[in-house]
Amino acid sequence: MDFNNLLTLSYLIGSITFILGLKMLSNPATARKGNLIAAVGMAVAIAGTIFLYKDGEGNSLHNYPWIFGALAIGTLVGFMAAKKVKMTAMPEMVSLFNGMGGACAGLISIIEFGHIVPKLATEDSSAIAGSLITIFLGLIIGSVSFAGSMIAWGKLNGKVKDFSFPGQQIMNTIMLFVMIGIAGYLVVGINESNAYLFYVILAGALLYGILFVLPIGGADMPVVISLLNSFTGVAAACGGFLYDNKVMLTGGILVGAAGTLLTILMCKAMNRSLLNVLIGSFGGNKTAGATAESGAGGATKEISVSDTAMVMAYANRVIIVPGYGLAVAQAQHVCHELEKLLDEKGVEVVYAIHPVAGRMPGHMNVLLAEADVSYDKLLEMEQVNDLFKTTDAVLILGANDVVNPAAKNDPASPIYGMPILEVEHAKTVIVNKRSMKPGYAGIENALFFQPKTSMLFGDAKGVLQQLVAEIKSL
Ligand code: NDP
Repeated sequence: MDFNNLLTLSYLIGSITFILGLKMLSNPATARKGNLIAAVGMAVAIAGTIFLYKDGEGNSLHNYPWIFGALAIGTLVGFMAAKKVKMTAMPEMVSLFNGMGGACAGLISIIEFGHIVPKLATEDSSAIAGSLITIFLGLIIGSVSFAGSMIAWGKLNGKVKDFSFPGQQIMNTIMLFVMIGIAGYLVVGINESNAYLFYVILAGALLYGILFVLPIGGADMPVVISLLNSFTGVAAACGGFLYDNKVMLTGGILVGAAGTLLTILMCKAMNRSLLNVLIGSFGGNKTAGATAESGAGGATKEISVSDTAMVMAYANRVIIVPGYGLAVAQAQHVCHELEKLLDEKGVEVVYAIHPVAGRMPGHMNVLLAEADVSYDKLLEMEQVNDLFKTTDAVLILGANDVVNPAAKNDPASPIYGMPILEVEHAKTVIVNKRSMKPGYAGIENALFFQPKTSMLFGDAKGVLQQLVAEIKSL
């Protein structure tokens, strides 16, 4: 078997493991293994490229110190960042890493354009038109993805504030068409004197990425990150075309398709169109959301830990609704302990998982998986909403927006239209949070003031520890 066949084999292994890994990622039980399988496949494809690749004249890759130096630095930084990152800061890290992918695609275009420029004096522009199209696509999409992801990262960690001005969407659209127009002009008539326009496109794409993400509201960032992620995939696929590299092409297309599907699914979960996400500014200025009329107000009723223990222990079925606060408190393990304890007492316990509970898609699934909660106990919103009617007690742990009835009955609310967990149909609702402060959308929650709701104030971890101790002593 010659080197070329082995290289093709390594790319085949890479491509198959990507598809397998992606399939396994769709189920929490297999997600971890799927990620690992895809990573091993990627390592095989990279090793294949480094050691087996030969160009048309039979030359292998060189520059090994640079390649291995960059690989070592990248591996170290990636490993440390992934080890250190808090689960609640995961969307920021995804955004940062995605931006790096976009930057890579943009850099490939810059380097390959540098290889084309010396040929301009001798070669007819029609001979290089195909390469130029791919280069410009990679440049524009990669740079937009890089600049946009950096802004998204800054917004998620609070360093970048929303910014918009009248006519911004129109200006963005004009900018996009001007970039495409210049790229088209270069594809048909590039020469040594107009080649500098390449850098005008680069600057335009970076500026477009910034202006595209700046006005979008903070709560919509995960949708934007997912969209930018699909952009990065397409930009990487352009690199695959350019180098005739099948694994890069497959990987890029898979990322592009998966990112697009995730974007659509997230929009569906919030019952909003992508256009509304991109120009709606939901959750952007929290003060604006905070003043929205939600029909909330009145007196709340408090419940003690011992009374909560009684309600839980003597219920037939308890539904736990985990939210962002559970992740902040890192209370997933003690929550699982409570669930097992109730289970031993013959109480049926399940979890109600809202698709946007927490701060990233699948946040609650990942959090509860960390505590070894059985996957069959995690019920999706559609499954569980019918179950509330026949449930004795609902325990809400650090969730707020995902159980806010304003989403159903207050057209003025910024979350109006978002499907919610209909907890108010249960006999008793107990809400654990630390205060009456609002959740991410910045709006009050009328659920807290309803007669069947009782507030159990305190940090989720501390409260759950007390609850476990109390139930044990019953
Ligand atoms: P929310 O942000 O609506 O509410 C979380 C609640 O947790 C707060 O009201 C807070 O109240 C409470 N809390 C915080 N810390 C603790 C603690 N240590 N112990 C107990 N309670 C605590 O969370 P939800 O999960 O209900 O909703 C998610 C929101 O985030 C939605 O608006 C969604 O659109 C948005 N979003 C979702 C993303 C996703 O992909 N999943 C991404 C980005 C945003 P208090 O301070 O009083 O304790």
